[in-house]
Amino acid sequence: MTRFDVIVIGGGPAGAISALKCAKLGLSVLLIERGALGRHKPCGGVLPTACADIIFEELGKNVPQSTMCSPEKLGLYYVPPSGRKNGGNMRSHELLNINRDSFDQWLCALAEESGVKIWHDTEFLEMHQSETIQVLVKRKEKIFKMTPRYFIGADGVYSRVRRQLYAKKRSETLPVLQEYWRAEGDFEDYFYFFLRGSVTPTYAYIFPKDGVFVVGIGSPKRQSLPISTSINYFKDWLFEEFNFKPLTLERRETWAIPYGFTLEGIDNVILVGDAAGFCKSFSGEGIRLAIESGIAAGDAIQEALVSDEFLAPIYKDQVEWISRLVHMTHEFVVSLTDEDREEFVKSELNRIPFNIY
Ligand SMILES: Cc1cc2nc3c(=O)[nH]c(=O)nc-3n(C[C@H](O)[C@H](O)[C@H](O)COP(=O)(O)OP(=O)(O)OC[C@H]3O[C@@H](n4cnc5c(N)ncnc54)[C@H](O)[C@@H]3O)c2cc1C
Repeated sequence: MTRFDVIVIGGGPAGAISALKCAKLGLSVLLIERGALGRHKPCGGVLPTACADIIFEELGKNVPQSTMCSPEKLGLYYVPPSGRKNGGNMRSHELLNINRDSFDQWLCALAEESGVKIWHDTEFLEMHQSETIQVLVKRKEKIFKMTPRYFIGADGVYSRVRRQLYAKKRSETLPVLQEYWRAEGDFEDYFYFFLRGSVTPTYAYIFPKDGVFVVGIGSPKRQSLPISTSINYFKDWLFEEFNFKPLTLERRETWAIPYGFTLEGIDNVILVGDAAGFCKSFSGEGIRLAIESGIAAGDAIQEALVSDEFLAPIYKDQVEWISRLVHMTHEFVVSLTDEDREEFVKSELNRIPFNIY
């Protein structure tokens, strides 16, 4: 079997971009994804246009039309605890409304075009790190043992790579429940972002996507209310404020985002995207940080090859700003009262647009 320079676990944005960057350095790269081609990732698929700009800068490609949903662009509209009358839309803040499954497929196809080998339907099982890195994966009932020079865990919020690397560290997650409703209501082309402590201490949202409304809520496990109850409170609030009338439920899914931890890697094993905890607890925004950390992983490997130093400390320096951002937004969320939420929305609506949330 070919010996790969780099093995990446996970075919989401973090994995695809890391793999692509490494292949562009002339390294042999294997990306392992346990899902089939076109696998579904529970996600709103809302992307700041700044993220599309980063992709363009890095890959020279625009996010293709084929990955877009209707409406293609959304504004951002804040609703504070006191309701719609004190909310409003953020000026000059534009979001892309993408289909996550085809977006991820597009990034993986670009990685393949750059020379990355992709194994779908293949599960990462175990890794051991001593003098060398040993990785065990299962594909078509066969176990493969491989020894890459660098190993990247891009295997999402419940990362097995992370759990094996940091067996003793806690990494809390925030459940997010998302429902897709055919519905009526007084909505425009906005991502409506709701803040009210009695509904959830984190965030709730509604926005249009391909003829349905995506209604979502993040709610910590230690809340007294189960998330299935919180979403009903949220829908009552939507009815009061926007005359929301749900008609048919098309899909319901629960997944999670990282909640207030960052773990970057050890020696020649690193973590990117959700696996590293790179997602904002305040808004659930993670795609951009997955992409930024994937780019940083490639840059760090380039530097490690030249210096012959361990990869993880170099990578940790590169993503230090992401870790800081994650902790800062998390501390902000856990300390919020409804008065703070009210103030936050007021100041957001008054400030010159600048993406900090
Ligand atoms: C309900 C919900 C809505 C969200 N909405 C938004 C949004 O609108 N905008 C936004 O920016 N962010 C959103 N997020 C966050 C965003 O989805 C994540 O931050 C992003 O997907 C992280 O990308 P990633 O590449 O790190 O991981 P993922 O996209 O999770 O990819 C990880 C991949 O690893 C694979 N994998 C896992 N374990 C193994 C294994 N053992 N072997 C092989 N493969 C494995 C998985 O199949 C998966 O394909 C949302 C999250 C949730 C839960």
